Amino acid sequence: MTTTANVFQNYIGGKWRGAESGQTFPNYNPATGELLGYFPLSGEAEANAAVAAARTAFEKWRLVPAPKRGEILFRVGELLKEHKEEIARTMTQEMGKILKETRGDVQEGIDMAYYMGGEGRRLFGHSVPVELPNKAGVAMRDPIGVVSCITPWNFPVAIPTWKMFPALIAGNTVVFKPASDTPLSALRLVEILYEAGLPEGVVNIVFGPGGSVGEALLHNPDVAVISFTGSTESGRHVAMEAAKSLKRVSLEMGGKNAVIVMDDADLNLAVEGILWSAYGTAGQRCTACSRVIVHRDVSKELVDMLVPRIEQLRLGNGLDESVDVGPVINVSQLTKIHSYCGIGKDEGAKLITGGYADREGELARGNFYRPTLFTNVRPDMRIAQEEIFGPVLSVIEVQSFDEAIAVNNNTKYGLSSAIYTQDINRVQRAMRDITTGILYINSGTTGAEIQFPFGGTRGTGNGHREAGIAGLDVFTEWKVVYTDYSGKLQKAQIDE
Ligand code: NAP
Repeated sequence: MTTTANVFQNYIGGKWRGAESGQTFPNYNPATGELLGYFPLSGEAEANAAVAAARTAFEKWRLVPAPKRGEILFRVGELLKEHKEEIARTMTQEMGKILKETRGDVQEGIDMAYYMGGEGRRLFGHSVPVELPNKAGVAMRDPIGVVSCITPWNFPVAIPTWKMFPALIAGNTVVFKPASDTPLSALRLVEILYEAGLPEGVVNIVFGPGGSVGEALLHNPDVAVISFTGSTESGRHVAMEAAKSLKRVSLEMGGKNAVIVMDDADLNLAVEGILWSAYGTAGQRCTACSRVIVHRDVSKELVDMLVPRIEQLRLGNGLDESVDVGPVINVSQLTKIHSYCGIGKDEGAKLITGGYADREGELARGNFYRPTLFTNVRPDMRIAQEEIFGPVLSVIEVQSFDEAIAVNNNTKYGLSSAIYTQDINRVQRAMRDITTGILYINSGTTGAEIQFPFGGTRGTGNGHREAGIAGLDVFTEWKVVYTDYSGKLQKAQIDE
């Protein structure tokens, strides 16, 4: 499949199509400012055409035996493996995170392809005893129809696979609206799906703004499910609009994740976990650690260990293997991060390191922000409560285990937490009392594996989970079939 060089198109119903208006939008490398290509500035017409194509394709795709659908996903896994390096490099160029991390992003897609491919031979329903003689009952999973996948830019391949692969294995068809900052990685993923043998129209990709393409998908009556990952603000809007036509909606949204470091922690281990969780992907992971909640007896020692390590982190183009931290996604995100550093200072937090956009030498061409650390942060400060989505870490001192748990739980988000302690009793209490969707013991706040449910509580989610078996739930409808082979009318609850 080829498109005109550097001017890419939507793929709808097996055909390449630009926007009806003929308009495009540019895609830039956030490390260098280099132009990577133009994508169609689509709107309602293209979104609706994609839904119509997906609706048509659904009638055949739902009848393809699930093991056959699984074989296609296995091929997708093989192709992603084959093209892993190339896709990782494209992703680094497009959104900035370092190669080690973009390879991990593609690997998540590979893992998900094999996992959901295997579901083609499971998709377990259940059969349980019925109360009347000569009668049977079975509960099975049915596909629902057209699924809209609306995704963010920070995991441009992994997150779409977390949505599309379970949707597809269950027999649904898809309209994929990727983030406008990462259209190229999304397009590569769709090309691979078709190279693996997906029938035309089963996945359709439409580029363009959330405010037009996204909105059209929220309102199109033929869209049955919206699977959204992004900010809590956008997610709330998605849920309210989609509710008008009673669509099913799964939301994965913001986070304000914390690492708790107790007085008995292995501090060397904690430092490694904090650095990786806080500054990996330049702090732009939904699971990024943006708070360290530390027992006051080890607080000074921990900060003294962290600061030189933070200052050693090398900023630069993620294609350079010696770089630790890439750019942030765009100028508006850079401005937002910097404004939060101003808010932190105004609130009385102490800026220990960072707190500025780094424009030294080659960095001047990109959106680089120095890894930042604040101490003297109170739990109620805005920098300790609001999602910054950048390389900014706040250290909050506590006096006890109970206070650490309370501070950890006291934000409007609930995605992931971590605790460093050697005490098995504290581990058990943390497992019971921490209210986030994910908890790590003696490692940082990132590192989910696809065979487990992923998602969060409170403002992070709306009760659904992605990945694992739970990831199938939003894409399937339970259907129960009763078969009465008694040859007479039997009345449940009435006949003795
Ligand atoms: P975002 O601005 O909310 O955008 C997410 C997606 O929604 C994009 O495709 C965007 O399109 C689209 N969108 C925006 N407005 C829309 C509307 N009115 N209707 C329909 N779609 C709309 O989020 P982001 O900046 O891309 O991503 C960062 C956020 O995602 C952070 O809050 C992060 O925590 C969260 N996140 C959560 C998870 C999780 O699993 N919990 C994982 C990763 C990221 P455009 O790109 O065209 O604006």
